[in-house]
Amino acid sequence: MLDTRQRLGSKELMALEDKYGAHNYHPLPVVLSRGEGVYLWDVEGKRYYDFLSAYSAVNQGHCHPRIVQALKEQAERLTLTSRAFYNDKLGPYEQYVTSYFGYDKVLPMNTGVEAVETALKLCRKWAYKVRGVPVNEAKIIFAAGNFHGRTLGVISASVDPDATRDYGPYMPGYIVIPYNDLAALEEALQEPGVAGFIVEPIQGEAGVVVPDDDYLPGAYELCKRYNALFIADEVQTGIARTGKLLACDHYGIRPDILILGKALSGGVMPVSAVLADDEIMRTIRPGEHGSTFGGNPLACAVAMAALEVVKDERLAENAARLGNRFRRRMQQLVESTDLLTLVRGKGLLNAVVINDAPDSDTAWKLCLRLADNGLLAKPTHGNIIRFAPPLIMTEAQLDECCDIIERTVRTF
Ligand code: PLP
Repeated sequence: MLDTRQRLGSKELMALEDKYGAHNYHPLPVVLSRGEGVYLWDVEGKRYYDFLSAYSAVNQGHCHPRIVQALKEQAERLTLTSRAFYNDKLGPYEQYVTSYFGYDKVLPMNTGVEAVETALKLCRKWAYKVRGVPVNEAKIIFAAGNFHGRTLGVISASVDPDATRDYGPYMPGYIVIPYNDLAALEEALQEPGVAGFIVEPIQGEAGVVVPDDDYLPGAYELCKRYNALFIADEVQTGIARTGKLLACDHYGIRPDILILGKALSGGVMPVSAVLADDEIMRTIRPGEHGSTFGGNPLACAVAMAALEVVKDERLAENAARLGNRFRRRMQQLVESTDLLTLVRGKGLLNAVVINDAPDSDTAWKLCLRLADNGLLAKPTHGNIIRFAPPLIMTEAQLDECCDIIERTVRTF
């Protein structure tokens, strides 16, 4: 038996995960035990700047005192009732979140992928109940390079062999077209039964791929023309990450279905949401969809506090300002080294592309060296490193981080 009173070091803790946990992740060899604001500490007490923010879940910074306080207060009153009964937090949260994002209704879930599944189900329901698509003939369009999560329904639209290999058979009724290609979208929208197009405004996992400026407005227009729903997966790009509350706000478009997760709770617990207007949301009736934990009072209290922090601390504005500063510094670095070929992104969702084959381990090795130098980041697909610190970062902290990145790249 493991003696939990004994303090284990990094090596022992990694060995435990290796022996007793499924090997479905390949983490950087750093074992973290504390977080505060933009910082993380490992079990040996070394401090790091967090440049991943748990894949943009910790936009508000680690253990934000207001969010933790909301969690503690609610945890002592009521955590879960299930939706078999009403609770005194869900209604106020639903009112708050719908007016915050400007929709008639919200459907609360827990993880990002559950919210994506919910949006896909809503799209199909709407196809049959409102659009009049013949039963079982609805189709949904996806963009290649997408990452919407890990369920069978969602990986069925993935073009990443790691996500799909040996998991077939896959979900029918999907059409996958190239990202950032309006002609392909228009062609697909003309197929019979197409009810919606789901898209990440910036493809985060694919390597922070930013589409052309006319892509999202054009895609939205096309969806309207062909009477299909425009569904935005803002699980990673939403909640101030890209320098606006939503990435869609950069283009002045309002998705028919909006999917949120991650930073909706400031990284404190899994909270996700699907927002839409009545015409779409009213197609789902009691018993037709749900989740034991979705809309639980603890999640509602935490999400309200997390969203208040985003507004009160002006995190979107900070992300926009610091993002410009970061890309300026990285652009100078790109121009003065052979190791990096480009920097791209919006707000504080950015990535640098490494000048090496997509399957080489240069990005991984650079991340190991960055960790040695006190900054945690992770490679994404291809030879790309995503840089996404908490949005509460100060200019001085960002400058220090740019110095660390520059120093590490130059000594590589
Ligand atoms: N959608 C997008 C755009 C994401 O980036 C992610 C996770 O990275 C998901 C959905 C899935 O979220 P979760 O891991 O909470 O299921």
